[in-house]
Amino acid sequence: MKIKILGSGTSTGVPEVGCTCPVCTSKDVRDSRLRTSAWICEDDTRILLDCGPDFRQQMLRLHDFHRINGVLITHEHYDHVGGLDDLRPFCRFGEIPLYAEAYTAEDLRKRLPYCLVEHVYPGVPRIYLKEIKPGCPFFIGKVEVFPFRVMHGRLPILGYRIGGKLGYITDMLTMPDESYNCLQGIDVLIMNALRIQPHPTHQCISEAIRTAERIGARETYLIHMSHHVGLHAEIGHMLPSNIHFAYDGLELETVT
Ligand SMILES: [Zn+2]
Ligand SMILES: [Zn+2]
Repeated sequence: MKIKILGSGTSTGVPEVGCTCPVCTSKDVRDSRLRTSAWICEDDTRILLDCGPDFRQQMLRLHDFHRINGVLITHEHYDHVGGLDDLRPFCRFGEIPLYAEAYTAEDLRKRLPYCLVEHVYPGVPRIYLKEIKPGCPFFIGKVEVFPFRVMHGRLPILGYRIGGKLGYITDMLTMPDESYNCLQGIDVLIMNALRIQPHPTHQCISEAIRTAERIGARETYLIHMSHHVGLHAEIGHMLPSNIHFAYDGLELETVT
């Protein structure tokens, strides 16, 4: 299974508008982070993980204009769903299901009534909701997806185990013991780490290292970073050898 990091930045993106810090003014492309999202490809099944406000730009960079078999939504915050309307060009290949849990689906219906109510008018993206529950696996094409619970501060949101070997978690502060059990035996973990200092709703780097070591994937890649993590070229030493800061455009592959 092939994975591409489409965006590795926190909700503001990096650079932050108006910021003149060394990260926001860095010339290193790895210091520019679009809002967090990832692309998964297994044979001819393509899965999008979240669809944030940078989705259009991410697709212009990706050059993979084919059917999207499903969009896995982690939660309803704008930086994870703000690009859903831009799925429109991909609807020429067929309708696109959005997988989300019930409360998130309800929020999206309110936010995008013109494409998610029953009688849509012509020209809107042909997308529809499929409600899912943590602990209840399903398939997108031939790829098995297992949603599990993680906590974004006090907000319950979803992480996903995909194709058996990939774990994907964003915007998490903590997760229950049973979710650790769900991740046993994964090969690659993609997981959030916001900054060095602790935060009330996101893991900081030291918390992410502890979580990654407990999960024990072969390789872990950190996403959803802010400009406070520092320059990509200078921060790698903070991490154990099998944990890495991801960057936009990074390509990964799970070993089966
Ligand atoms: Zn977020
Ligand atoms: Zn900055």
